Amino acid sequence: MADVVIIGAGPAGIFAALELVRTNPGLKIVMIEQGRDITARTRSGKEMLIGWGGAGAYSDGKLTISTDVGGQLSSLIAEEELLRLLEHVDAIYTSYAPSGDLFSVAGDDAASLSAQARLAGLVYVPTRVRHIGTENLAIILGKVRQELEGKVDIRFGVRAEEILEEKGKVMGVRLSDKSMIDAAFVIAAPGRVGSSWMSSQAKRLGLETHPNPVDLGVRVELPAAVMESLTSKAYETKFIYYSRTFDDRVRTFCMNPYGEVVIETLGDIVTVNGHSWANKRTENTNFALLVSADFTEPFDDPIGYGESVAKLANMLGKGVIVQRLGDLLSGRRTTPDRLQRCATRPTLRQATPGDLSYCLPYRILTDLVEMLSGLDRIAPGVNSAHTLLYGIEVKFYSNRIRLDRDLCSQIDGLSVIGDGAGITRGLIQASCSGIIAAKSIAGRL
Ligand SMILES: Cc1cc2nc3c(=O)[nH]c(=O)nc-3n(C[C@H](O)[C@H](O)[C@H](O)COP(=O)(O)OP(=O)(O)OC[C@H]3O[C@@H](n4cnc5c(N)ncnc54)[C@H](O)[C@@H]3O)c2cc1C
Repeated sequence: MADVVIIGAGPAGIFAALELVRTNPGLKIVMIEQGRDITARTRSGKEMLIGWGGAGAYSDGKLTISTDVGGQLSSLIAEEELLRLLEHVDAIYTSYAPSGDLFSVAGDDAASLSAQARLAGLVYVPTRVRHIGTENLAIILGKVRQELEGKVDIRFGVRAEEILEEKGKVMGVRLSDKSMIDAAFVIAAPGRVGSSWMSSQAKRLGLETHPNPVDLGVRVELPAAVMESLTSKAYETKFIYYSRTFDDRVRTFCMNPYGEVVIETLGDIVTVNGHSWANKRTENTNFALLVSADFTEPFDDPIGYGESVAKLANMLGKGVIVQRLGDLLSGRRTTPDRLQRCATRPTLRQATPGDLSYCLPYRILTDLVEMLSGLDRIAPGVNSAHTLLYGIEVKFYSNRIRLDRDLCSQIDGLSVIGDGAGITRGLIQASCSGIIAAKSIAGRL
């Protein structure tokens, strides 16, 4: 028996537990996490995304304090209320360890960047970003773990297999070790890594879902000096571009000044991502360039589509492919020799020099090439032949589950939060979603 069962110990689940413990100390809370504790996890392979801290533990640690970035909570909660919550979560993160730098572009600087972007055919999205750094974020999440020690029953190495329901009310959870936990409240926070599991549960429980688009593209890496004028002020500069040829939405995402490109393992596919350290610098900056692929009837499997494109790249490159932009534009493969001559030195050594045009659909490739040329007008050097493109970067978003403003599903007592609910896409909104669900449960208790 438990009062509340939380599935998943990523930022969403952790902040739900933290809020419940701080506001209702006597509750019996059980947390189920398929991975290992933060002290036992490693930064590689499948462990990169699972275990205490979830995908957040080894993320770049950028807290984007903006209501229209990193999730869609603003579609459920009033703008000012969400902003207050984002600031509250930011304060919790920074109460545990060094606060990192807060970057924001305001006033004349923002107006001038906006105007420059418009001239280049781009839309500039102003944000406030705190960069905690990948090493510090793991420390912070470790400290939260210590705070919860003895107050929450945390079970590692076991999966939630089935969410139990009777007559429209949640009854508990059945685990992979065949044990069952009865509970009047269940918070499902399985993250992107648990999106297929969550979809299957939603189907079984008859929850209404809507497909989210899949974002496909590449990780761009170039000398940090090229982006310096932008990253020194804003750290992460977000631009949106609507492509001339296809009118597709293309955007920059997850900018890592002086950072490194890393491999992300998602089930049986490998993709790319990036992060930067707070206390160590490379000579490059990287960021993702992503095209949102939104499908209409009869196709309803954007995740399957994204996986197929990523698998094609994996098949051709035996993993991740890297290509010089100059080679891509000249219609030739990047060979190890050509990569050796590249002025940008790759930070990801395990990528295979190859040809991305064999795996990226024409539509997506065209969108990316157009946007690189637009970005070059703001940061000259982006469109250089020596810019490196790593593929595939893909962001799968779980199907968005129908939720009310307290993040409760159509099953009484079942809240679904974080990236696994398809409602968030980043650390801070995922953490906020945990607080929202916990507050609502605390209110009902
Ligand atoms: C390399 C990288 C860099 C990133 N950088 C940033 C950044 O700088 N800023 C930012 O805002 N976001 C960043 N992100 C995204 C951010 O990490 C996620 O948005 C966030 O972690 C989502 O939190 P979550 O709790 O919803 O899910 P997750 O963090 O994915 O956690 C879900 C947890 O649930 C567990 N789980 C899943 N299913 C089950 C089950 N059935 N039973 C038991 N356990 C289960 C998983 O093992 C996992 O530990 C980055 C992500 C990556 C991979």
